[in-house]
Amino acid sequence: MDELAKTFFRESIYLLRHYIAGILLKKDLRDPQTKKPLSGYWNPRKLIIFIDKNLSEEEKLQTLIHELEHVIFGNNPETQILKTEIELWYLLTKNQKNRLRKYIPKYRRIRKLER
Ligand SMILES: [Zn+2]
Repeated sequence: MDELAKTFFRESIYLLRHYIAGILLKKDLRDPQTKKPLSGYWNPRKLIIFIDKNLSEEEKLQTLIHELEHVIFGNNPETQILKTEIELWYLLTKNQKNRLRKYIPKYRRIRKLER
């Protein structure tokens, strides 16, 4: 397996377990400074990854990968992050993607108890 994907996956799982405080789905996510709409946002102060609630399941996973890159390769410019995101999308195995996907919270429905 490719070294980049292997390292990224190992680091990501470690950070999700031990460093990142949470992943939150949020409606109408915007850049705090520019107010531009965002699909994802890493808050290094709160250690939270925000993901736009209205994205498709696949887009949420892509966004998680993108934001994890910001955590891991913090100082890389956005153009580099985007380039690596595309590479990782092809390099990560289905199993690795599924394991990362498990950290994305599901939309919680309140169901009435029926008897
Ligand atoms: Zn970014």
